[in-house]
Amino acid sequence: MQRMGHFDLESRKGKAPGGYNCPLAESGAPFIFMNAAGQMDDVTTMVHEGGHAVHSFLAHNLPLSGFKEYPMEIAEVASMAMELFTMDHWDVFFSNEDELKRAKIHQLERAITIFPWIATIDKFQHWVYENPQHNEEERAAAWMNLLDEFKIEALDTSGLEPYRQYGWQRQLHLFEVPFYYIEYGIAQLGAIGLWMQYKQNPAQAIDSYIKALSLGGTRTLPELYEAAGIRFDFSPEYIRGLITFVKEEMEKF
Ligand SMILES: [Zn+2]
Repeated sequence: MQRMGHFDLESRKGKAPGGYNCPLAESGAPFIFMNAAGQMDDVTTMVHEGGHAVHSFLAHNLPLSGFKEYPMEIAEVASMAMELFTMDHWDVFFSNEDELKRAKIHQLERAITIFPWIATIDKFQHWVYENPQHNEEERAAAWMNLLDEFKIEALDTSGLEPYRQYGWQRQLHLFEVPFYYIEYGIAQLGAIGLWMQYKQNPAQAIDSYIKALSLGGTRTLPELYEAAGIRFDFSPEYIRGLITFVKEEMEKF
């Protein structure tokens, strides 16, 4: 991709914001666009989009273009699992031992704390559409109730109510793609499941990863998870097991 000029990574004046991987149908070699700004996010964005790029390469040989359009939940398993797989090699980016450790802990914290936020956003969307006649005050109250339902007890947010009640506005998905957010949670569970497999047997996990992603969109989502050797399971017991695993890994740093 580097040789083909398929990376546009640096931020520059006038460049559009954001980051994405764009599959290119003819060559099969995708294009990665992002805005590196000398921050930790540069690393996670690059490896995240790198996971999408590997997915594009693996699905390229499928005979029909439609087969290469896979559901978002498996697409984000490819990218989020790549974020976790690559952590063992982050010393390429972080030469300072303390910064490397901080970056890894931050990554795992992010992998866990995304769940309560996804739950809050998802439940809020259901409330909004189930109560189409609501007014602004009722909406703010409903949002505050949800924030309380999923809040972390250790966090003191007193005095911030005027700002907190509009916190939902920072989630673009609510405006542009209604009900499209829980997919990230489904994908993150898959990514953690794959990482668990990776920690036990890296070669086998990479094999499973390749096997599942090579199927593109030719199978249902549960079948794709099965091909990756991970469970398509949303039971509290299974989720608790995954989160406990991440916490244990975090304690090793
Ligand atoms: Zn992605």
